[in-house]
Amino acid sequence: MTNILKMMNKTVKVIGAGLAGSEAAYQIAQAGVNVELYEMKPKKKTPAHSSDLFGELVCSNSLRSLQITNAAGMLKDELRILNSLIMKAADSSAVPAGAALAVDRAKFSAYITETLKSHANITIIQDEVTQIPDENFITVIASGPLTSDALASSVSEFFGDNGLSFFDAAAPIIDAASIDKSIVFAQSRYGKGNNDYLNCPMDKEQYIKFYDALINAEEAPLHDFDKNEQKNLTVFEGCMPVEVMAKRGIDTLRFGPLKPVGLTDPKTGREPYACVQLRAENKEKTMFNIVGFQTHLKISEQKRVFGLIPGLENAEFLRYGVMHRNTYLNSPGRLTQTYSTVLRPSLFFAGQMTGVEGYIESTASGLLAGLNAAALVKEKPPIKFPSSTIIGSMAYYISHGGTGKFQPMNANFGLVQPLEYKVKGGKIARNEAIYHRGIQDLKSTIYNMTI
Ligand SMILES: Cc1cc2nc3c(=O)[nH]c(=O)nc-3n(C[C@H](O)[C@H](O)[C@H](O)COP(=O)(O)OP(=O)(O)OC[C@H]3O[C@@H](n4cnc5c(N)ncnc54)[C@H](O)[C@@H]3O)c2cc1C
Repeated sequence: MTNILKMMNKTVKVIGAGLAGSEAAYQIAQAGVNVELYEMKPKKKTPAHSSDLFGELVCSNSLRSLQITNAAGMLKDELRILNSLIMKAADSSAVPAGAALAVDRAKFSAYITETLKSHANITIIQDEVTQIPDENFITVIASGPLTSDALASSVSEFFGDNGLSFFDAAAPIIDAASIDKSIVFAQSRYGKGNNDYLNCPMDKEQYIKFYDALINAEEAPLHDFDKNEQKNLTVFEGCMPVEVMAKRGIDTLRFGPLKPVGLTDPKTGREPYACVQLRAENKEKTMFNIVGFQTHLKISEQKRVFGLIPGLENAEFLRYGVMHRNTYLNSPGRLTQTYSTVLRPSLFFAGQMTGVEGYIESTASGLLAGLNAAALVKEKPPIKFPSSTIIGSMAYYISHGGTGKFQPMNANFGLVQPLEYKVKGGKIARNEAIYHRGIQDLKSTIYNMTI
């Protein structure tokens, strides 16, 4: 690599001036390395972007929780410690929003745009990039969930079959600690496997109550560009939203994701009337998904309706179910913990297209990819953050995946390396301990960083 590096152009190309690309460009430039930042706006805009500014928030103006006992709050503090441009923009354009950090979106994007445009080490090129730049360039691709078609084809070709997904249809993910273990039972259908599933048994009355709530629940509004994608996708049974399947008839779910056959509830000694299954998302079994429950119900409705499932009355949702257009890499095995590609270490990806999900998560991956692109130019060792931090645990998840099919993921405490000791005082006390351990570990890592 060192010899190849000597022949490489020392200016890093960053593609996309969204949240991840803006953060990556800033980190690289701050490390004293020249950047060419490519952004196709205003000449061409994705169906979700409307402003000409960089770092556009395409939907909500909230960057979620500020509380340190929430993973999104912890990640914000990590980003502040790491001198994040996006966090500086957010803190300087904050509007009152209780325990959340919400921003004036115009001020937020103006701050980012002005900082990048006036930075001595950054050259802005407002044009669409249609192909991955060649090997002579160190490159960070951060073109987002709605990457333009030409670039998406080039990325898809680079990774080959199954490298890139264009639609995200995911079931909710629940924090294992919030599942009522006095109700659910661990068992595999027909006793096959090692009791790998947690089963939520329903009697007839519970099933009918759940069914009625499900078919009458309110769906999330769809963006126009999602409508066609969804029409094409729902012809495949595997991608059908659970609420759509339910509307086919009262017993359809009992022959589909809620089928009880081959399961015996140890409490009754009988097969339940219907049964929801939960499958582990990671080998530590700190997170479980609800099998077959991809959905586009509103978030508040998911909480209400899925909370009727026995055992999930107090479930904490680490990620809600979604069905939307989303260009993302099947990253495990293709990206490393530094967001560089295994196939070409000088090519990095960042942002939502790596499989992180959310504004600050995209920012965090841009920050880490940017630091590593700069480290590569400066011939310094790669930078990895420990799995006790949110930024590090997300990078670990992206590069290694969980136990099932890879799904994009929000920041959450289920990804973080569990504490080695028990904490008295419940979930808040546990999360506080995770926060303090992670921040301490992050500071030690920064202390030893050489760029
Ligand atoms: C409709 C929608 C709503 C969302 N709402 C939320 C929300 O409310 N809260 C939340 O936390 N997350 C939300 N997300 C998820 C995610 O956090 C955002 O998409 C976030 O903006 C991702 O950041 P990014 O930097 O990866 O991509 P983006 O912010 O989208 O940035 C990508 C940039 O690349 C540019 N680009 C694309 N292709 C090219 C090309 N070929 N050449 C040059 N430039 C190119 C684009 O113009 C864009 O500026 C939403 C996603 C979508 C699609």
